[in-house]
Amino acid sequence: MTFQSFARLALTVALALGAPALQLHPSAQPGTFDLILRNGRVVDGTGAPGRLASIGIRAGRIVEVGPLEGATASATIDAAGLVVAPGFIDVHTHVDEIASQPAIPHFVRMGVTTVVAGNCGGSAADVAKAFAEIESARPALNYSTLVGHNTVRREVMGTANRQATPDELKRMEALVDKAMADGAVGFSTGLQYVPGTYAETAEIVALARVAARHGGVYATHMRNEGTALEEAVAEAIDIAEQAQCALEISHLKVDAPSRWGASAKALAMIDAARARGLRVNADQYLYDAASSNLGIRFPSWVLEGGQEKINERLADEATWTKIRAEMRELIRERGLEDYTFARIAEYRADRSLNGLTIPQAAQKVLGAADLATQQELMRRMLRAGGASMVYHFMSDNDLNRILRHPMVSVASDSGLNTFGEGVPHPRGYGNAVRTLGKYVREDKVIGLEEAVRKMTSLPADQFGFEDRGRLAPGLAADIVVFDPATVGDRATYADPHQYPTGIVHVLVNGVPVVRDGRQTDARPGKVLRK
Ligand SMILES: [Zn+2]
Repeated sequence: MTFQSFARLALTVALALGAPALQLHPSAQPGTFDLILRNGRVVDGTGAPGRLASIGIRAGRIVEVGPLEGATASATIDAAGLVVAPGFIDVHTHVDEIASQPAIPHFVRMGVTTVVAGNCGGSAADVAKAFAEIESARPALNYSTLVGHNTVRREVMGTANRQATPDELKRMEALVDKAMADGAVGFSTGLQYVPGTYAETAEIVALARVAARHGGVYATHMRNEGTALEEAVAEAIDIAEQAQCALEISHLKVDAPSRWGASAKALAMIDAARARGLRVNADQYLYDAASSNLGIRFPSWVLEGGQEKINERLADEATWTKIRAEMRELIRERGLEDYTFARIAEYRADRSLNGLTIPQAAQKVLGAADLATQQELMRRMLRAGGASMVYHFMSDNDLNRILRHPMVSVASDSGLNTFGEGVPHPRGYGNAVRTLGKYVREDKVIGLEEAVRKMTSLPADQFGFEDRGRLAPGLAADIVVFDPATVGDRATYADPHQYPTGIVHVLVNGVPVVRDGRQTDARPGKVLRK
């Protein structure tokens, strides 16, 4: 090699390795950092095998990943014996009210550094205003949102059970367009909920098309997740193909014992759509129970028009007879005989029922637990404003099969929890760490690097978080440091308010929000606008 070609090579290498850092912070001295994470096993989020390395951080960004011998820093964290991974990106949450709880401890303590809200069709109506409020509340983690179909439909049509007129559709399109311009990352539906459930496919195509024009994703809580799972997946794929939009199937599951095993068909449909060139991913939470409202157990026509209308229908005996019969049909189709699968999470009208199943609560309140009495209790509960519920109706086989699919990310589906209040689904305290504890270390369903990829680069790529989800120079320093031998969830259905084990340090934009297992006062999160 001549001196000139050597010099050219050296220059190329220098540009490749050093230039991004120098360009980002031209005034800083090479080899000096704000913080160094020393000697951890770096699992970088791409799925590549972990390797021993140190990470140098400056001004909230990763500057260098390597041996960093001789480098100095204002602060050092010893990560020897621990795994260093990108912070977890939870793309399916319901933490829209984060401004009221900006420290959001149950998320940051399980290593989540970025959340996406606005899922299942429900979001802020005014995204710009919500972002401004959240920015002034200074969240501990990074926040982004989708714009919800149910929200925009309610704005334009209330809870009307009919198709949109051309004018109404135009107004909904304008609302989605405004939300996307304000920085939403995509458009969501909740097609089992009022009023989205009343919409036909064409309306959703039109609105997803608006999101696609802005480069957004279409995320869907589908029309059905069990008895008609394949039809629902087909509709989701059809919408995405017509709208030319990336598709995210939310909380993929099989929620009917009569259909257990159908996840194989759903995943095959995703593979076939991907083979045709559609960008379709899914996400899942790693529990065999779902969480939703009480109303979803009633025929959707009962819920039209608000609480007053609902109560009129429930009060009329002839209508109630019809409702009861349809409710029974709905559970029978799923292969269920009664409501033993349904546990009350939070019933404001009588909190003494929190934590009981419907039969247990029927026994307590009405002195019997047969199906008719269970339904009578549910009728009273819905008239009193409803409840949030936990529903046990999924199988481990489906859950594990879905988890093994490479295009399914892990997301919690959790809303905000207040420590000690109610009996919420445990996923809000445990989902991300349960992946690493139960599903990697104990059950060995997937490997550690793959689990980390499913919570980092996979969701980052799908939702367009270009500078997050990997450990590489130039990217935001969202980092979680955990002990692979002890990481795990402690929250249970009976006792959910328990923080996980094994999450040692969590950095958001280079600032520790968890240090030595304890949450700090720092709230360095950013609103991530598309
Ligand atoms: Zn949902």
